[in-house]
Amino acid sequence: MISLDAEKYRKKGFERAYFDEVYRYICERMKYKTPHAVGTGRVMKELAWCLKEYGLLTVLLSEEVQSKKFEDLNSEDFIDIMKALVLADAGTLKEMYKILREKKFAENFIKAKALVKADKDKKTKLEEPFKFLDYFAKNAYEGMLKLEVNVPQISEEKREIPIMMVQGLDIRTCPYCNRVFIGSVKNKKLGVQLDHFYSKSNYPFFAVSLYNLIPCCSSCNMNKRDDDEKKLRSPFDKKYSFAEDVKFVFEEVQQGCEGGEEKKAWKVHFKMLSDDPEKNREYEANIDEFKLDAAYDFHFIEAKRFREKMLAYPPSLLREMARNMSVTDEDGNIVEKIPAEALEMGLFQEYFCEPADYIKKPFAKFYRDLYFQYRGWE
Ligand SMILES: [Zn+2]
Repeated sequence: MISLDAEKYRKKGFERAYFDEVYRYICERMKYKTPHAVGTGRVMKELAWCLKEYGLLTVLLSEEVQSKKFEDLNSEDFIDIMKALVLADAGTLKEMYKILREKKFAENFIKAKALVKADKDKKTKLEEPFKFLDYFAKNAYEGMLKLEVNVPQISEEKREIPIMMVQGLDIRTCPYCNRVFIGSVKNKKLGVQLDHFYSKSNYPFFAVSLYNLIPCCSSCNMNKRDDDEKKLRSPFDKKYSFAEDVKFVFEEVQQGCEGGEEKKAWKVHFKMLSDDPEKNREYEANIDEFKLDAAYDFHFIEAKRFREKMLAYPPSLLREMARNMSVTDEDGNIVEKIPAEALEMGLFQEYFCEPADYIKKPFAKFYRDLYFQYRGWE
C-alpha cells in the first residue's frame, strides 16, 4: 500500500473548493424534514445535532464553540462544525471512529436497518437519528459524486470531484494495491472508484469526509469489507510507512511435504521489516484485506522473468562488457564508451522507480523491491 499526501489537496486549493461545493449542496439541495432544526441549512443542523448526540463534537469543535449550548450555536458555528467534519484528517476520523465503536454505533445502526428490510409489510420505520443518518449517507454521497468543482491549480476546466481528487493528489495507480492504473482521460473517469475507508453503511457520519474517501481500483474497493476498518490504516495516515517497512520478496518457500520430502515452490510474498510488532500486524491486515499475496503471486511469471534477467546480467558481467567496449585515448588511458552503470540503467531503467513516484506507476514498488533483493538492499 502506498501513502497519499493530504498536503497536496491543501496546497492546490482542492480542500477548500471541495468543502465549499459539498457544503452548498448539503445546505441548498438536500431536503429533509427534521425534528431538530428548521429553516435553511436544516440538514446541516440535523447533522450537527447527531454529532453532538454521539459525543463527536468534542473532537471537532473549538473549546469556545464547545462551551455553547446547542440552541445557541449560530450559522457560523454550524459552518465550523461542518468544515471540521468534512475536512477531518485521518487521525481525527480515527478518534471519532473509536468513540462510535465504544458506543456500538455500527452494530445498532445495522440491526435497525436489517429490521426495516426484513419487514415485508413495510410497517417498521427507521427511527431518528438513524433515519436521518441513513438519508445523509446515501444522498450526500450520491450528490457529491455529481458535483463539479473549479480548482485552477489542478485543471483549467471544472471537473467532477473524483477526477479532481486523482489529479489533485497527482496519482496514477491504486494506493491500496499499486497494480492498476486509475485516472481520467478527457474528463472521463478511468478505473477510479472512491472507497469509504470507514464504510458509509456503518459510519454514515463520514460519507463525504474528504480524507475518508480513497481513490482506488474496483477490485480493491470490492475486496475491502465493511466491518474491518479497525485493523487497517488509511493511506492518508502519516504514521503509516508500508512502502518502507514492507518489502516484496520472490523466493523459494516450503509448500508442505510430499512422500516425506519437503516440497518447495517459488512465490512472491511480503516481508515485514518494522521493529514494531503492532505495525507489522497492521501491515499484515492490509495485505490480507486486499488479498495482495494472491494478487501479486498472480504475477509470478513477471517476477520469474525479472529474476532471470537480473541473474543473467550480474554487475561483474556488466563491468566486463564495459571494459570490452572500452577504447584507449591519446594518452593511453582506458575510456569506457558505455560505463557499466549506463548498461545497468539501459537494462533495468523501466523497472526502476523512486519511492516518491510509486503512486504514479503500477508495479513500481514490486519491481524496485525485487531489484534490490538481487542487487542488495539499500
Ligand atoms: Zn487496487
